[in-house]
Amino acid sequence: MNESSNIEKILQLRKELHEHNYNYYILDAPVISDYDFDQKLKLLQALEEQHPEVFDSNSPTQRVGGGLTKNFQTVAHHLPMYSLSNTYSLGEIQEWIERIKKRIGPVPLTYMCELKFDGASINLTYEEGALKRAATRGDGVQGDDVTQNIKTLNTVPLQLRGDYPSFFEIRGEVILPWDAFNALNAERNLLGEAPFKNPRNTASGSLKLQDSALVAARGLECFTYAIAGAKGSFKTQFEVLEKARLWGFRVPQSAAQCDNIEAIFEFLSYWDKHRTELPYEIDGVVIKVNELAWQEQLGTTAKSPRWAIAYKFQAEQAITTLQGIHYQVGRTGAITPVAQLKPISISGTTVKRASLHNADQIEKLDLRLGDRVFVEKGGEIIPKITGVAPTERGAKTDKIEFIEHCPECGSKLERETGEAQHYCPNKNGCPPQIIGRIQHFISRKAMDISGIGAETVTQLFEAGLIQNSADLYILTVSDLIGLERMAEKSAQNLVEGVSQSKNQPFSKVLFALGIRYVGETVAKKLAKKFKNIEALALATWEELIETDEIGERIALSIQAFFIDPQQLQLVNRLEQYGLQLEMEQIEAALPQVLEGKRFVISGVFEQFSRKQLADKIESLGGILSGSISSKTDFLVAGKNMGPAKKEKAKQLGITILTETAFLELIQT
Ligand code: AMP
Ligand code: ZN
Repeated sequence: MNESSNIEKILQLRKELHEHNYNYYILDAPVISDYDFDQKLKLLQALEEQHPEVFDSNSPTQRVGGGLTKNFQTVAHHLPMYSLSNTYSLGEIQEWIERIKKRIGPVPLTYMCELKFDGASINLTYEEGALKRAATRGDGVQGDDVTQNIKTLNTVPLQLRGDYPSFFEIRGEVILPWDAFNALNAERNLLGEAPFKNPRNTASGSLKLQDSALVAARGLECFTYAIAGAKGSFKTQFEVLEKARLWGFRVPQSAAQCDNIEAIFEFLSYWDKHRTELPYEIDGVVIKVNELAWQEQLGTTAKSPRWAIAYKFQAEQAITTLQGIHYQVGRTGAITPVAQLKPISISGTTVKRASLHNADQIEKLDLRLGDRVFVEKGGEIIPKITGVAPTERGAKTDKIEFIEHCPECGSKLERETGEAQHYCPNKNGCPPQIIGRIQHFISRKAMDISGIGAETVTQLFEAGLIQNSADLYILTVSDLIGLERMAEKSAQNLVEGVSQSKNQPFSKVLFALGIRYVGETVAKKLAKKFKNIEALALATWEELIETDEIGERIALSIQAFFIDPQQLQLVNRLEQYGLQLEMEQIEAALPQVLEGKRFVISGVFEQFSRKQLADKIESLGGILSGSISSKTDFLVAGKNMGPAKKEKAKQLGITILTETAFLELIQT
């Protein structure tokens, strides 16, 4: 392709991808597969790399993040961002309406009722349809410039559509849906890190992360709900929202126009009941005067607009009896106390347990068995205890004393200074820790071993077949047959899956080792810097902490891992069994041998899973696509591939590679 057609292609792909993004995230109606989307994005990335002269900070490729913001600049909002006056009482809503009517007289008046999203507010500035800047609310007059991070949110349009005004600010709320929040906490738990408290704090904290690639991975979303400036041609808030939706913003469908107070009350009571069904947290409803002319006339007080009010819901609480405490031992040895409650129904679900985090929290609440406790349920996996009813206390003698010994192995618990958590130090002899580590090892993001699940790990451990992850690699079919639920076929699959995992790259193995605080991203950075496990094991303190993202806490944990003889033995065995404990030769010695070549994969393979094969091709510079066309260079054909595909490839004269031929190709 020549220069100018490359540039044309870049412009066209950008346009196309903005459109697909809109279809997917705003309309929720994608018209191409995720795979095709990714392929187009990759192609765009590749072309943009060749043509830095047409860099566009709002290209769809910017969404993956990667830019660092060391210091967030303070920037002034064009128009101030107010807070809202709020109330918990319906009576006060009525009074608010009466006050408004008194001020503006007997005019036709309607209202907008909108959900009050519980996240971090954001002010987006658009110029000529392009996102110019995103700023946090700050003190309302000025906030922090978090544009780089906001660009990673797919629900914030980078390029608008239709007849947008040439300059305006639009306000919205950045939220973290429950799923993403719970997943994030599950991952932190796995790494031995303290869980995040709630989605709101996590959302605002995420906006201030320095590495935008981390922000991209968090799963934040944005709802927009108000335009500031450029209101000229609109009559009502409703119209504004409808219009904003057409320009490409994600405007909540839940917003409703209400003609009178009865309709408002109906909206409030509906959402009070149904809010727990939402995939994210809301803390109330915002009621706004709908007509922009009356909004203007009502104006604002020093702090908040007179034309809007927030109605806040009472948290969903119930009171029940504390019957006991159960102590869970995690993979890292962290002990988590879990309150056992007399079962009670909160917003439709039966609650029997509540998390207590650590000893400090039990102390702070001064918990005693038999206490009547307040339990609150948000969308978290497990509800929490927020207080104790002062008049319904258990006996003083039943005060809860945190355990001193591990409930699973009896070891004396330890607590490091400055840490809230107690730990069982018996890393190599405490069953839940051993099992947890192996479960982590096999998990999807680590060794991704198919044919084996978390329960099988427990089963194998209990049957005395495995004591650590390395033992997996010497399992034979005959070891397994005879175990419960283990037919010959599943035994074969297991052994096969274990063997295939030897192809996992070094960074995954490193993550799978389960070194405390070494998550996926850190593992990748370590692999890249140290190249092989020996170099990492011998790394000096300075070498460790001058690595991106590696602070003292992680460095300490890495050093502790590599002086533990049991861990060293484990690593040695894994190396002996053929796991990748160094960056692949090919990546280092033969970079990009498939540069620019287009591949289609079909069928099943012996030495690779399809995903591994795809990763391999991409790591060597090849480009993958989902279907065969005249542009395809190679079809890698495995077993059981469809005859139609093969036929088409033949017709188009595309080179068909067997698995062996592919391996030869990348050796050359
Ligand atoms: P508060 O922080 O309690 O003063 O409430 C004001 C904040 O509510 C605003 O700054 C927004 O961040 C947030 N908010 C959430 N949803 C909405 C909405 N639909 N309309 C206006 N503000 C909202
Ligand atoms: Zn233990």
